[in-house]
Amino acid sequence: MVTVNGDAAGLVVSFGEMLIDFVPTVSGVSLAEAPGFLKAPGGAPANVAIAVARLGGRCAFLGKLGEDEFGRMLAAILRDNGVDDSGVTFDAGARTALAFVTLRADGEREFMFYRNPSADMLLTEAELNLDLIRKAKVFHYGSISLITEPCRSAHLKAMEVAKEAGALLSYDPNLRLPLWPSAAEAREQILSIWDAADIIKVSDVELEFLTGTDSVEDEVAMRLWRPSLKLLLVTLGEKGCKYYTKDFHGSVESFTVKQVDTTGAGDAFVGALLGKIIEDQSALQDEKKLRELLRFANACGAITTTKKGAIPSLPNISEAMQLMEGA
Ligand code: ADP
Repeated sequence: MVTVNGDAAGLVVSFGEMLIDFVPTVSGVSLAEAPGFLKAPGGAPANVAIAVARLGGRCAFLGKLGEDEFGRMLAAILRDNGVDDSGVTFDAGARTALAFVTLRADGEREFMFYRNPSADMLLTEAELNLDLIRKAKVFHYGSISLITEPCRSAHLKAMEVAKEAGALLSYDPNLRLPLWPSAAEAREQILSIWDAADIIKVSDVELEFLTGTDSVEDEVAMRLWRPSLKLLLVTLGEKGCKYYTKDFHGSVESFTVKQVDTTGAGDAFVGALLGKIIEDQSALQDEKKLRELLRFANACGAITTTKKGAIPSLPNISEAMQLMEGA
């Protein structure tokens, strides 16, 4: 078990699902046509945890896995990447979640989830490692853990404990529409915890989903603004990102790279952001610092698109610096 001791650097605790994506061995086929599948560890909150650690930060992942070969494999991946796994619990009765996913030749994405229920959905309040949550300087989460009970209550409790202990709350909804009973339910539940967060990151697609408007104009993004927020971010893929704070707003361009697979770009962006914010929270009030930080986060997102898969392509500091200095 990797545990993180000492308070030399602030701890990011990332809460939610970790699972295995099964992706076809050949591209452009439907799930039915795929001759075979490769397993790729995933789950946005776990990717964020590994992104923070790979860039040299302290991070713990909190969630539930199946007490099975895949669950043990995922916990080992966390440890091998320097992520504290002392908040991981195992369910003896349910399996680690699986997601079969493909991008067909016609551009349609097909998903098939094995969550009937999966272990991550069964995390209970009583199983939360509260000591770990109370140590967090930043507590990060998504919205998939809000979909069903008992995990939903565990998620809400974890947020409450983190907030009480003084952590910054960071939210990346990471919309996965096929997992929700309906689009209306997804929208309502995703927005139900909006006001608790200090930092929120949405993609352009999520901005459209949540506002019902296909535009990334400031006026549309500002509909997601709340006085309780310290920072709202909208990521725009190859175009970089937009930022909004109480006092200033603007955009930061990304870097030109040869894109291979965008999986994990948003998670790398968030991991880079949180790792830096924890070092110096004044970036939330200082536009020049924030723009520098977002340039770094953009570089980390861009690098992640240059290789297949999320975790294998998350950058380390020297790769990020190289892209930034070469630009
Ligand atoms: P998500 O993965 O959440 O949909 P994005 O695709 O918007 O998020 O990517 C997150 C960040 O990664 C972007 O804001 C940008 O900085 C960077 N990024 C993503 N795709 C590219 C790309 N093709 N070229 C350069 N940077 C990219």
